[in-house]
Amino acid sequence: VSSNNKPRVAFLPCPGMGHMIPHFEFAKLLVKNHNILVSFLVITTDASAAQNQFFESPNIPQGIRIVNIPPADMSNIIDENTLVLSRICLTVQESLKPLRSILAEVNPKVLIIDLFTSEAIDLAKQLSISVYTFTTASAGFLAFSLYLPTLDREVEEEFVDLPHPINVPGCRPERIEDLLDQVRNRKIDEYKWFLFHMDRLRLADGIFENSWEDLEPLALKAVREHAFFKSIQTPPVYPIGPLIKPDEFIAEKDAKIIAWLDNQPPDSVLFVVFGSGGTLTSEQLTELAWGLEMSEQRFILVARKPSDASASAAYFNVGNDQNDDPSVYLPEGFVERTKRVGIIVSSWAPQAAILGHGSTGAFLSHCGWNSCLESLSHGVPILAWPLYAEQKMNATQLEDGVDVAVKPVVQKGEKKVIGREEIERVVRLIMEGEEGMVLRSRAKQLKLSAEKALSYGGSSYNSVCRVVDIWKSLI
Ligand code: UDP
Repeated sequence: VSSNNKPRVAFLPCPGMGHMIPHFEFAKLLVKNHNILVSFLVITTDASAAQNQFFESPNIPQGIRIVNIPPADMSNIIDENTLVLSRICLTVQESLKPLRSILAEVNPKVLIIDLFTSEAIDLAKQLSISVYTFTTASAGFLAFSLYLPTLDREVEEEFVDLPHPINVPGCRPERIEDLLDQVRNRKIDEYKWFLFHMDRLRLADGIFENSWEDLEPLALKAVREHAFFKSIQTPPVYPIGPLIKPDEFIAEKDAKIIAWLDNQPPDSVLFVVFGSGGTLTSEQLTELAWGLEMSEQRFILVARKPSDASASAAYFNVGNDQNDDPSVYLPEGFVERTKRVGIIVSSWAPQAAILGHGSTGAFLSHCGWNSCLESLSHGVPILAWPLYAEQKMNATQLEDGVDVAVKPVVQKGEKKVIGREEIERVVRLIMEGEEGMVLRSRAKQLKLSAEKALSYGGSSYNSVCRVVDIWKSLI
């Protein structure tokens, strides 16, 4: 097929590594398996080192063109108090002002947008471009989000004041304490932005979901078959996951981590990182360090500089703090005392390669959806420590339903710090307890089921083929 006849697809993920990575994996899959030409539109922000490195990589396959959308001037629009989702949405809104000319130049038949780039829908429709959303969160989250506009109309008070869980049609009830941050206060901008974009999910021609049939059977069935979702004209939902970062190219500075893992026994290392942007308070980081040390387990700890102001302090400058010295903000003597059992990294670790390594036995994770999928794809059980966004929802689903995770018990009361004894207990439980073995074997089952879904004739494989057939008929 000459390149003129190949379907042209453009991607428009929103800023953040947790969005870029799965969108890019999907782009690679379309190029490799389906002979599609991709333009990958990147909303650049004040340069996160991790994002820059990602797109400088020599591994960008032929068939994908990176189109950088220049950074918008955000100086009068956001300040240090702007919360993370408002910041993303405002950045997207400003950056997409030249979208018409970008699309005219790129000339795609299909535009794949993200949860928070739905402004592009109207313009795409005017230009007769088909629009699909690729949601980088779970199907449970998708069901909740499709239901939110109805909930917003029907409930007057704050959702957090409701005396009962939220019954998303056909899904497991959503516990109030697990509600995502963005819907916990309906008066603030975060909520308005979230509702704005979720209300537009229905306008796409189809929704790709980074999940697979066996992982979330209930929510996937609900969004496709339940009368409620039909009544709001939910477009077809295609589970195509798990699309995760493959075992990555290991930079020289990271090679020593992998070499160290090579020398550890199978399933013996706990990997600890809170996603691309998660940070702990200084008090919590201290407790975590003590808990790890007391557990006497092997570990790799990504110890970012703590922040008492925000749990997502590193979101917009991921990887910029590679020169921080963790011994300054970890308990005195911790680095020295644990050096025989642990490795400490200041900001960014090769997560995919670590999770894929046979010595890694469990993952202490903030439960961002990509991290969940990466862990399960490698058969690694999760010690769930959710921080922000929809992570509490994910953590509960993985603990109670998917049965691959355990959560530390958070004491009720004002101070939401997880103490060192509790951390020691759950770390021992998942690394050496019987419960840990059960979780590990369940995670290994899911690994096989994920491989099956993605391979030729599997459910996720077939979902992609179905849509590509539709696209090819558009030409
Ligand atoms: N990641 C990584 N190294 C790190 C931290 C994160 O490679 O030290 C990657 C991780 O593999 C995943 C993504 O960044 O692909 C984080 O996405 P997730 O949805 O888990 O969380 P978010 O960062 O969006 O909160």
